[in-house]
Amino acid sequence: MEVIERVSALRAIVTALRCSGKRIGFVPTMGALHEGHLQLLRASARENDITICSVFVNPTQFNNASDYKLYPRTLEQDISLLQTVGCDYLFAPSAEEVYPQQSVLQFSFGALEAVMEGEHRPGHFNGVAIVVSKLFHIVQPHKAYFGQKDLQQVAIVRQLVQTLSFDLELVCYHTVREADGLAMSSRNKRLTATQRQHATQLYKALQMAAADLKHKAIPDIKAEVAAYLGQVDELQLEYFEIVDAYTLQPVTDVQAQEEVAICIAAFVGEVRLIDNMIVNLNEI
Ligand code: AMP
Repeated sequence: MEVIERVSALRAIVTALRCSGKRIGFVPTMGALHEGHLQLLRASARENDITICSVFVNPTQFNNASDYKLYPRTLEQDISLLQTVGCDYLFAPSAEEVYPQQSVLQFSFGALEAVMEGEHRPGHFNGVAIVVSKLFHIVQPHKAYFGQKDLQQVAIVRQLVQTLSFDLELVCYHTVREADGLAMSSRNKRLTATQRQHATQLYKALQMAAADLKHKAIPDIKAEVAAYLGQVDELQLEYFEIVDAYTLQPVTDVQAQEEVAICIAAFVGEVRLIDNMIVNLNEI
C-alpha cells in the first residue's frame, strides 16, 4: 500500500488508473480505524480493482473545537490495519493540503439538514459536503462506501451526488457493533471504562423503542426512552427521534410507514455518540 499526502500525487495516480480501465472503490474516513471501517474497505477491495482510503480529520465539519482537538489520531496503527484489508492507496493529507485557503462555500440541504445532526450541529453537514465533494473530485471513484452508523450523512451525500451529478455509485453498509451492542466508533476510544459500560444503554434504548413501535404511540415511546436514559449516570440525551427511514423527517403515525429509523444522540461524559436502527414495520 502506498501512502500519499499530496493532492497532485493522488490525481496523477487516479488519472493513470482510469486510463488503464481500472475501477476505483473509495472509503473516506477520519481514521482511528475499527471494524466498522474495515468492513467497508473489504467490500471495496472485493468489488473494485483498486481501493483508496482517505484518513482526514476534517476541521470544517467540527462545530466544537475540543471535539476536533481530542478526536483520536492513530495513523501508524491505521496503516497497519489498512495493509490487512486489501487497500491499495491511503490518502492522508494535511489540513493545509485540503484547504489551501479557507472555504466560504455554503451548501444547503433543505429539510434534510433541519433535523437531528443538522439541527444540533450547525455547519456540520456543510463541512461534510465540502470535504466529500473535494475528495470525490480528487479520487474520482466508481463506487464510494459509507456506513449506516451515520445515517443522515448517507442521506446528505446521496442528495449531494444527485444534485451535483457526481458520476459514482454510493454503497451503504450496516452498522458494526461491539459484542454488547455499542456501535463501533472512533470516539469510543475516549470513553472511560465506566462510561464505556453506560454507553451500551444507547443500543438498549433503540431496541426498547423498536419493540414498542407496533403497540405504543410515538410520544409515549419517546417519553419512556428519555426516562430510561435519564437514570443512567454521565449520560445526557441530546435527541431521540423516530423518522421516515428515507426522508429522515419525524413521523407521527408509525402505522402509515413501511420503514422507520430510530435515531439517537447523547453525550456520555464529554463524548458525543450517535446510533440508529432501521425497522421494517412489515417484519415486526
Ligand atoms: P468516520 O471515520 O467516523 O468518519 O467514518 C468513516 C465511514 O465509516 C463513514 O461512512 C461511517 O459511517 C462509517 N462507519 C463508522 N463507524 C461505523 C460502524 N460502526 N459501522 C459501519 N460503518 C461505520
